[in-house]
Amino acid sequence: MKPIFLANWKMNMLPAEAETFCKSFLGLVQADASYTDIGIAAPYTSIAAVKAALGGKKGIWLGAQNCHWADNGAFTGEISAKMLKDMGCDFVIVGHSERRQYFGETNDTVSKRALKTIENGLRAVVCIGETEAQYKAGITNQVVLEQLKGSLAGISADMTKDVLLAYEPVWAIGTGLTATPEIAASVHALIRSELINMYGNVVADHLPILYGGSTKPDNIAGLCAMPNINGGLVGGASLQADSFAKLVINGR
Ligand code: PEP
Repeated sequence: MKPIFLANWKMNMLPAEAETFCKSFLGLVQADASYTDIGIAAPYTSIAAVKAALGGKKGIWLGAQNCHWADNGAFTGEISAKMLKDMGCDFVIVGHSERRQYFGETNDTVSKRALKTIENGLRAVVCIGETEAQYKAGITNQVVLEQLKGSLAGISADMTKDVLLAYEPVWAIGTGLTATPEIAASVHALIRSELINMYGNVVADHLPILYGGSTKPDNIAGLCAMPNINGGLVGGASLQADSFAKLVINGR
């Protein structure tokens, strides 16, 4: 499986900044595009600018950072997967820990969002990961398994071709602390083995599991060299074209 690197810009990047980023990024990764899959999850207001700047470039996916579980309706402030598909998006991040932490997302709402994403022909990047307190309490495996099963509830084996998982220990997101390759790999192995229980070997082998949490150009190679780590979901290091390009090149 080709490694996959997805930028999560969070609430950053005005359209003009997004355009500048994309132009510079395309120049830097040109030669690498065939070795990796790359995506950019922009804030809603910059999706059109990213799309225009990428000019339909194959291998660079257009993404969003959340969506609602209805196609339309009285849900002030929300956006639907149907709308994102119409804008040209390829994928949607669902269940990011910042959504779980600050906006009350639960495994139940994450699975509904993932389902709707897939039903609309988009790929769902489903995020799971334990908090610092859970990590320190030694209950990482239990939390991750519970989130995995809950967030994929209702997703059939057929639908899994449109699912990517991102294991993101919350204590490593935006903190500068990265899980060591060994710690990350042990959780990725746990996820892979639960995927076998849930869907069987064929599905489990083909479902990408990305790592996220303070990945940088200089630590990505060690992480991606580990079994079951199929790429990265990248926050801070994806905000500059040169650092995201270096991360993609070093990680492949
Ligand atoms: C993220 O937000 O998904 C993330 C991994 O952020 P950072 O790389 O900044 O830790």
